[in-house]
Amino acid sequence: MKCPFCSYKEDKVVDSRATQEESAVRRRRECLRCGKRFTTYEYVEEVSLMVIKKDGRREPFDRKKILSGIIKACEKRPVGIEKMEEVLTQVERAVQKKSDREVASSRIGELVMEKLKVIDDVAYVRFASVYRQFKDVGQFMLELKDILSKERRKSR
Ligand SMILES: [Zn+2]
Repeated sequence: MKCPFCSYKEDKVVDSRATQEESAVRRRRECLRCGKRFTTYEYVEEVSLMVIKKDGRREPFDRKKILSGIIKACEKRPVGIEKMEEVLTQVERAVQKKSDREVASSRIGELVMEKLKVIDDVAYVRFASVYRQFKDVGQFMLELKDILSKERRKSR
């Protein structure tokens, strides 16, 4: 591994351990020329996952795309980026547990909604309105009413 300080190509590993989730191995290395230490991570190459869209087309599972949807839904809401990334990770894990390596985009949407519902009502409704593309305003209002009455009960 090339040293990030002096570009020398030889080093020794001084420490090697699994990360908390055991999905990666973290190695501390020491450059044999300048003696500075740096860290490398080793990951298992992820199994590719395909998303089946509504029209039947497939596209690769795209973390960024899903995260940007979550960020949009959480705009100006008291939800930190870490929380949003956590939602994404949970959804990704749930999806990867399935062995057939294909998942319907609607299933991903449902999973995100499930998680957002627990975190922030407004973000949930926003996400749901985009994802489910509420066919009629009535259905949307019904969902909203449910949430509003819940809010009222909370503030009482
Ligand atoms: Zn070096």
